[in-house]
Amino acid sequence: MKGVTILGATGTIGTNTLDVIARQRDKFFVVALTAHSQVERLAEQCEQHHPRFAVLHDPRAAEQLQRRLHTTCPDTRVLSGEAGLCQVAADPACDYVMAAIVGAVGLKPTLAAVRAGKRILLANKEALVMSGEVFMRELREHGAQLLPIDSEHNAIFQCMPADYSGADAAGIRRILLTASGGPFRALPLEHLMLVTPEQAIAHPNWTMGKKISVDSATMMNKGLEVIEACWLFDLKPNQIEVVVHPQSIIHSMVEYLDGSIIAQLGQPDMRTPIAHALAWPARMASGVKPLNLFDITKLEFLRPDLQRYPCLQLAHEAIERGGTATAVLNAANEIAVQAFLDRKIAFTSIAVTVEHVLAKMPIAAATTLEVIGNADQHARCCAQEFIQSQARRAGVL
Ligand code: NAD
Ligand code: MG
Repeated sequence: MKGVTILGATGTIGTNTLDVIARQRDKFFVVALTAHSQVERLAEQCEQHHPRFAVLHDPRAAEQLQRRLHTTCPDTRVLSGEAGLCQVAADPACDYVMAAIVGAVGLKPTLAAVRAGKRILLANKEALVMSGEVFMRELREHGAQLLPIDSEHNAIFQCMPADYSGADAAGIRRILLTASGGPFRALPLEHLMLVTPEQAIAHPNWTMGKKISVDSATMMNKGLEVIEACWLFDLKPNQIEVVVHPQSIIHSMVEYLDGSIIAQLGQPDMRTPIAHALAWPARMASGVKPLNLFDITKLEFLRPDLQRYPCLQLAHEAIERGGTATAVLNAANEIAVQAFLDRKIAFTSIAVTVEHVLAKMPIAAATTLEVIGNADQHARCCAQEFIQSQARRAGVL
């Protein structure tokens, strides 16, 4: 039996993880469930899975949860704040940690799990994008194991040799990272300015949290994934080619020197990579319905249009610059996406904001968490100021 802690249990990935675990009760038990402030949702999950710990980031919400669980889950200890998140990520009863908090706030709890030598199931790509060098160094130092949950990276992992130790040694020519192209792939470019948050989060193939759905529409998600793949598989950005594949059936491919391309196919359902990483190196059922090849009428592959997806270019530039540039890119994007969701800026202003912040901020070597944290905070302030100055200008005009 393996003990599992789920950071971000109430989100899309967290919920899918609990669905897989509920089908495999003889293999896994839940050590801790955590969320930001969703009392009801987390209480229901606790009542179903009876974890040892439940954590809400928000202390007042944690008090409510404590009262709510008093009679139904008397053995569940309720904790709060970042300290609570880090504590349960490193708890000795837990073997595996699903890192599924969205955004930079997931970095510290995920690193706590790394430092405790856990198997990390990494969905929270922003953590790796911000801190790649430090994250990978800590992983090695503490003997932690990293398994990718992002469907593309999980696919790449599955298409690589089990003893992978670098692209050259494995005879890999390049990685073909697939992207759906999001909901606006075919929208006339001049309409992009006017799209609403509701349209942006209505992804054609995947059901996901709001932030990653907007990132998929701008393709910043793919940019973050290029950076993620560089760190996970020790690759240079030019070894990764982004391929728009609107059907989301092939989840990514690895091209070898002999001309072979190995692909992983499956339903667009995150329970497949989640079950893969939980069971690895074995396999187990995930609840995903089998893919019927006879239902697939076509598989298309297109080059990404950088005019439509400027965020992809910005992410490429950030990884090429290295250091804190990727933390700055991520922080500016988080602020801009939230401003778009709050209807403060247009969809197309997300890329404009990120570009502005990247041009303004000094870039340093990202060798300590302190440097990364400072870059993240300054980039957030710079993005907020830019958004406010744009709003003021629009008000004057
Ligand atoms: P989501 O918005 O559905 O859920 C986010 C979770 O994080 C929630 O449980 C929320 O309570 C928690 N959270 C948010 N802010 C927090 C804070 N300040 N402190 C503590 N907890 C906080 O997001 P999601 O779609 O499940 O995505 C989670 C992560 O997985 C993201 O990094 C995303 O990029 C990545 N990912 C998601 C998918 C997908 O299909 N949804 C696929 C690949 C990667
Ligand atoms: Mg992905």
